[in-house]
Amino acid sequence: MYRARQETAPLESFFFKLPETFLLVFRDDLKLHLISDAWLATLGYDRQGALPENFLDLLHPDDRAATAERLAGLDADNPTLRFSARCCRADGSCLGIIWNVSFDAADRRYYASAHETAVNLHGSDAHLPDMFVDGLTGLPNRSLFLDRIEHTLRRRERRKDLLFAVLHCGVDRFKVVNHSLGHRMGDVLLMSVASVLRDAIRPTDMVARLAGDEFGILLEDIRDVSATLLVVNRIQQKLVMPFSLDGHEVFITVSFGIVVSGDAPLTPDGILRDANLSMVQAKAHGGGNYVLFDKQMHDRAVHRMELEMDLRHALERGQFEAYFQPIVGLADRRLTGFEALARWRHPSKGLISPVEFIPVAEETGLIVPLGRWMLREACRRARDWQQRFPDHPPLAVSVNLSARQLAHPALVDDVAACLAETGLPVSLLKLEITESAMMESEGAAVAVLERLRAMGIRLLLDDFGTGYSSLSYLHRLPIDTLKVDRSFVTDLHQNPTDRHFVETIVHLAHKLGRDVVCEGVELAVQADILAAMGVEYSQGFLYSRPVAAHEAEMLIITGLPEE
Ligand code: C2E
Ligand code: MG
Ligand code: MG
Repeated sequence: MYRARQETAPLESFFFKLPETFLLVFRDDLKLHLISDAWLATLGYDRQGALPENFLDLLHPDDRAATAERLAGLDADNPTLRFSARCCRADGSCLGIIWNVSFDAADRRYYASAHETAVNLHGSDAHLPDMFVDGLTGLPNRSLFLDRIEHTLRRRERRKDLLFAVLHCGVDRFKVVNHSLGHRMGDVLLMSVASVLRDAIRPTDMVARLAGDEFGILLEDIRDVSATLLVVNRIQQKLVMPFSLDGHEVFITVSFGIVVSGDAPLTPDGILRDANLSMVQAKAHGGGNYVLFDKQMHDRAVHRMELEMDLRHALERGQFEAYFQPIVGLADRRLTGFEALARWRHPSKGLISPVEFIPVAEETGLIVPLGRWMLREACRRARDWQQRFPDHPPLAVSVNLSARQLAHPALVDDVAACLAETGLPVSLLKLEITESAMMESEGAAVAVLERLRAMGIRLLLDDFGTGYSSLSYLHRLPIDTLKVDRSFVTDLHQNPTDRHFVETIVHLAHKLGRDVVCEGVELAVQADILAAMGVEYSQGFLYSRPVAAHEAEMLIITGLPEE
């Protein structure tokens, strides 16, 4: 929220509201035919004075040639145009304007109107600021979009019955396209999407580019929500056909988050934030979908924001704990080590699951200090157990690393420092990286992992089977162990497909010289099937839930409970 405010505030002095009756008509020789009083007043001319004769004369000299060329491109098949160009006032100062021009081929006239927000430019040769129009797509940008929403909100104060909708749309998995086809093709794709969106709305509505692959649409004066869904439908239908990019056929889908004006007082920032939130939800449902913002979603967002604020202090206030879950050798059912799992003991909310706070820590970057703390705590405990239970076969400790940690330049040094400080033998440290973290770091991770592995640390690919990774590139990843996600284990004993999947993975892993851990083993029958397949290790509630360090110690002393 803060960022959005920071972006718009300095722009306000630039903005200039044009009156609604802003119309210019000129002929195909570009001679002015009609000019509304509002124009004259804004530009500082009067009807008696020397008014320019030609439309181009109203423009800044540097913008004339390009404008003439654009206008010449209009015809009966292609009658409308939107572009930005500076317009000069009688006193020589300039206004940056987004023009909408339509060409009436029958009477060969151009009808020009302006977007109601213009930009005050100082000095006649002032440049049109980029902060006004998106350079790639030529669409209005985020600042202008927010400004237009504000204008709509003001209109609504007068006309309470007017409904409007703000759509936040994002191209699903755009990163993948950008990554696989290259950034230039990514840009072309964004331009194509921009034109699909622009074609799907009425000229009076607005499409803007908000950031990266995200666009905003403002639909004004709608009757009800169904009008919005019609637009969404229209866009989705256009996207059924693939884009042809440099010989490649690219299929994309777009996710929408929708806010429809209601009774609650709204701000432009708030509307966009809610629409964005809904879009994130739509993406979470698999993309190609829309989500209408509702109050519950808002409440969840507030809860999350509170969580984020509390999380900022949690580390310094000592609210994190490392829990430990046994990892068990399937051949002899002996304890071989533990996975360290973070827990947050919140002063008022109690014990919070990492499923809830790790993603927030990821997003805010807090995962880096938190991860460093977990690593140290896990190594310290493991070293302590090694010293106190010298007769027990060595117990390894597995620590989870997130994408953000993996991308952090200090990671390798941190790990080395931690091993040196705690004195844990390097052979007893394992690091777990999820498939999706590996993909997110777009290959950069591999070099880091190779350095860690060269130190003698063993690496596990966590949640295997849930991400994008394909079995075909497994041999290229510097990992020692595949950790099969528990979703494949849960039904293993009654679902042949899952059993087949695990069997295939085990077979492949062994062929590549990797071993396998299965997570989520809750039943003895699952452990038996996995053991028969030759899976080396298992982990799950069958043996123990993740427990506090002193309880883990009891498991070392007394051994695992009988199955
Ligand atoms: P994970 O690394 O895949 O950890 C295994 C999760 O499965 C743990 O959830 C564990 O409690 C749960 N689990 C283990 N056995 C069973 C079972 O038999 N049945 C069921 N239903 N669940 C089982 P937990 O502790 O809630 O952690 C969730 C995830 O949070 C972890 O998944 C990991 O991705 C992340 N996480 C936890 N601690 C850390 C951390 O220190 N750093 C990072 N980056 N991520 C962490
Ligand atoms: Mg893990
Ligand atoms: Mg896992």
